[in-house]
Amino acid sequence: MEFLQEKTAIITGASSGIGQAIAEKLAEKDAYVVLLARREKKLAEIVTSINEKAGKTRALAVKADVTNVTEMERAFQQAMDQFGAVDFLVNNAGIAANSSFIDGEVTEWGNMIDVNVKGVLHGIHTVLPHMLDRSSGHIINVASVSGFEVTKRSGVYSATKFAVRALSMGLEKELARTGVRVTNISPGMVDTDLSSRANVDRKILQPEDIAEAVIYAVMQPDYVNVNEITVRPV
Ligand code: NDP
Repeated sequence: MEFLQEKTAIITGASSGIGQAIAEKLAEKDAYVVLLARREKKLAEIVTSINEKAGKTRALAVKADVTNVTEMERAFQQAMDQFGAVDFLVNNAGIAANSSFIDGEVTEWGNMIDVNVKGVLHGIHTVLPHMLDRSSGHIINVASVSGFEVTKRSGVYSATKFAVRALSMGLEKELARTGVRVTNISPGMVDTDLSSRANVDRKILQPEDIAEAVIYAVMQPDYVNVNEITVRPV
């Protein structure tokens, strides 16, 4: 079986949920993983568990806020110092609030835009020169089915996820023939802290199901660019 030896991934929002599962799954495939988020204690627990399983330093915890471009640049440098290159960036960090327009929840709107849109841009900004220099790399953006559909009170969250899809599409066009691949993954409801599980009458996705989509995209031959994956519960 083909593994990801000598590949290094930065995963944002890796302290829980989908990001944690992506980091763990990539590490199982022998990639080096840099887990980025704000909660240091959660990151440390996950990194310790990955390294214990691997019997070596396979994972690194980096405390950073995706809304802060300086912290993101520093995180990239820490990844380079530890592992020497960055092959994959998974822009996964995100927040969701059921914000109503009528209630004018301006602060919540701004926070979602800062994390879900500017955070993705900051991630792209920090890795892209390195990937272009090497003519190799892969940027994976975690959007949402809310980037295709809008429900009552999902207007602003959906707008951020429509934006993530637009960024992925534009990035793919700009990076065609550079050797840098772009994948947009749009999950349906996943069982994490972020999703509201109230009134759910069916089996929803597990974080590992989205991690499998990442593995599928990164393990393609290097001339194959899987641009768009949507995963919904049955
Ligand atoms: P979680 O709440 O479990 O994970 C969100 C992650 O984002 C956490 O690790 C959190 O870490 C991190 N994060 C939040 N704000 C910041 C920030 N400012 N800087 C750095 N990290 C941050 O939710 P999910 O795993 O469900 O969400 C992951 C992604 O999947 C999100 O983009 C979400 O929109 C998307 N998604 C989720 C779906 C679901 O049903 N769960 C469906 C569709 C898409 P910390 O607080 O430690 O910083």
